[in-house]
Amino acid sequence: MSNMVEVAILGATGIVGQRFISILQNHPFFKIKELCASENKKGRRFLDSVDWLIEEELNDEIKEIKLKSINDKLESKIIFSALPKEISFEIEDELSKKGYYVFSNSSSHRYDKFVPILIPEVNLEHIESIKFQKRAGFIVTNPNCTTTGIAIPLKPIKEKLGIKRVLSVSMQAISGAGVSGLPSMKIINNIIPYIENEEEKIEIELRKILGKFTKDGFLSANFDVEARCNRVPIRDGHMIINFVETDKEVDVEKIKEILEDFKGEPQKLNLPTSPKKVLRIFDEQTRPQPILDSNIDKGMSISIGRIKKSSFFTFTFTSLVHNTIRGAAGGSVLNAEILYKLNYIKV
Ligand code: NAP
Repeated sequence: MSNMVEVAILGATGIVGQRFISILQNHPFFKIKELCASENKKGRRFLDSVDWLIEEELNDEIKEIKLKSINDKLESKIIFSALPKEISFEIEDELSKKGYYVFSNSSSHRYDKFVPILIPEVNLEHIESIKFQKRAGFIVTNPNCTTTGIAIPLKPIKEKLGIKRVLSVSMQAISGAGVSGLPSMKIINNIIPYIENEEEKIEIELRKILGKFTKDGFLSANFDVEARCNRVPIRDGHMIINFVETDKEVDVEKIKEILEDFKGEPQKLNLPTSPKKVLRIFDEQTRPQPILDSNIDKGMSISIGRIKKSSFFTFTFTSLVHNTIRGAAGGSVLNAEILYKLNYIKV
């Protein structure tokens, strides 16, 4: 037990915060020490302060933790942030300057000059940017949940075939809007063809993630991206239809092979949260489906199906990402695991 690294979760009562708890409560080397929520819940027992929405049962020890406020002094050096954008900017900045290692799910620092939007299988070399942050600790972000489901399959495609342009149309789950983000009256039997700021986030983040880091900042990848986002009455799992124009043209079987073979450093290091297979490829025309496939490899795999030649682009495929696991908490924990293993974290 003494070798465990203590961690804190900010926004622990929210949907991403709850996912953090379910992933970390039985983690082999991270131990949840502190949980934070809004000021009015300070001092309350976690179990009495949360509307628990995750299928996995809470450990007894976690139930008893007394909530802290984000302004309290934290003992853990590793901080997982699941705070709303409106309040995360200042607190994450402050904590990282004081020497804390902040792993954020919020968009507030994603576009900073020296802050990486990290997916370890895709752009691990971007961690070089941390050294330029001039903070005693650092901030590492993970992408918007939908971006994750596009960036991972596009990484091997970009490497092997080159990308000219991408069009992505998403169908996003309700859990993407947070615990109380979307009233049932608005979404049952319905589709909402707009999610505020989401399309812009995908267009910017995808190019940053697939771009290069230089000592002057990030150089975005040189391809065009257009995104359209829809909210659909699904609980978990964002599904995205992608159209890709590549520099080089190959047949569908070759595209499948490129995606199937893709792996990264987390798989080589066999990290606790890394999926065995990053991309799960389906031949069946009716897959992937949120209800069947969102939880593959504990929600850390991206499912891919409907790979087809396209008459307007080079090819098209459908991807599925578990938005609160690989697209949020799981992605963040994987980032912390790899930075810990690579000695970027001193505790
Ligand atoms: P959420 O369910 O609404 O949870 C928000 C959390 O923040 C709650 O724990 C809440 O605590 C806390 N909070 C709110 N105001 C606070 C304040 N003034 N001081 C301290 N704590 C405060 O939201 P979420 O969906 O988990 O999203 C969290 C972050 O992750 C957001 O930045 C979101 O954009 C990002 N994200 C979400 C997803 C997703 O699929 N949901 C995916 C990727 C990224 P109380 O319970 O005390 O109010």
